[in-house]
Amino acid sequence: MNIKFLGGADVVGRMGMLLQNKGANLLFEYGMTASKPPSYPLPAPFVDMAFLTHSHLDHCGMLPWLCGKYDTEVVATPTTVDVAELLVRDSLKIADIEGYPKPFNEQDIKAMMHNFTPMTYGEVMDVGGFEIGLHPAGHLPGAAMFEIKGEQTTVFTGDLHTYNMRLVWGAHPVKCDNLIIEGTYSGRLHPDRLKTEYELIEKVKAVVERGGKAILPCFAVGRTQEIMLILKDLKYNMWVDGMGKTINRMYLDRPEYIRSEKALKAAKRKFNEVRTPQDRQRARREAQVIVTTGGMLDGGPVLTYLEDVKNDPKSAVLMTGYQVEGSNGWRLLQEGMIHVQSSKEEIPRPVGIKCEVKKYDLSAHADQGELLSFIKACNPERVIIMHSDDREPMAEAIRQENIKVLLPSANEDIEL
Ligand SMILES: [Zn+2]
Ligand SMILES: [Zn+2]
Repeated sequence: MNIKFLGGADVVGRMGMLLQNKGANLLFEYGMTASKPPSYPLPAPFVDMAFLTHSHLDHCGMLPWLCGKYDTEVVATPTTVDVAELLVRDSLKIADIEGYPKPFNEQDIKAMMHNFTPMTYGEVMDVGGFEIGLHPAGHLPGAAMFEIKGEQTTVFTGDLHTYNMRLVWGAHPVKCDNLIIEGTYSGRLHPDRLKTEYELIEKVKAVVERGGKAILPCFAVGRTQEIMLILKDLKYNMWVDGMGKTINRMYLDRPEYIRSEKALKAAKRKFNEVRTPQDRQRARREAQVIVTTGGMLDGGPVLTYLEDVKNDPKSAVLMTGYQVEGSNGWRLLQEGMIHVQSSKEEIPRPVGIKCEVKKYDLSAHADQGELLSFIKACNPERVIIMHSDDREPMAEAIRQENIKVLLPSANEDIEL
């Protein structure tokens, strides 16, 4: 069999991998990078079937294009299907606001939704001379790894976390010959998770006790829920705003994919939801803690709340997510300012943020140590690293274990 990355091999983003076997063509992921301008994988050829690991746009963002063009069937878990629809539709809205060309339209999204074939963990399907099954990947509720069994067994991890987070259980290794694994945290280790959570809780307390507001900009999918779970026992006036509210409901609709339905329900009860402009006014007046989109400060309600606290030294912006270079969140951490643009025509104006700003590592990706333990337990003959800006440190550590490592580039044919 043969694999070829259309994107996302040597970069975090715009995923797409073709797998060819005995005349069958399968596609794993077809995403986009929401940078400015957005970037896309190479155009996909006709494929017999597509497989999606999870709902993040770098994995699913171009599936509407694929389904609109070729009417392709796409396998994913039901939760991934729910959330992917919301995110790809939102990406069209963002393209409108930012003025970039749209690679697909509403009709294509309908084609994608029509063509989804929901499958869950433990289920197996026969396609292209393989038996393909799903395992939990730990990264998000509903995130799946694909186990592809033929003459050899190949595992495609998608984004992976082996640690038991509050929202979702960690992934378990799967024995295989070929392991195609993400390497976002190649060469890096996370700080102790429980210690980081404790520091975040203590910081929120300190900010509120000194009379400030704690603003936590979060991605809607996964991070909003994880942060609400971490803060749920605090007795403050807490609010949640943005698309994360919808995702809360989607996750609670399919509780079999989350670690604790009870805990997420309790967290949801503790936070007031901003549903109307009046709610938002109330949150601006009285909230002590606000969890809100967007996670990179490039849009969403967070900009309104930032406006209120930017000159207040008692308040704090507490960042917990990955910040793409050039995003407002990245700028805030590097330069202490963000760029605000009220209309397409207007030139972005710099706005200084003078309240406290802190960053906490609560990543939903395994770090290099966790990846290595996972790889050793899968006991593969070869490892193919993808979804990484710098694969070499992880590759070196794997070679030390006498396991063969492949680092394909986009458009390179690899025989397995
Ligand atoms: Zn992801
Ligand atoms: Zn990803």
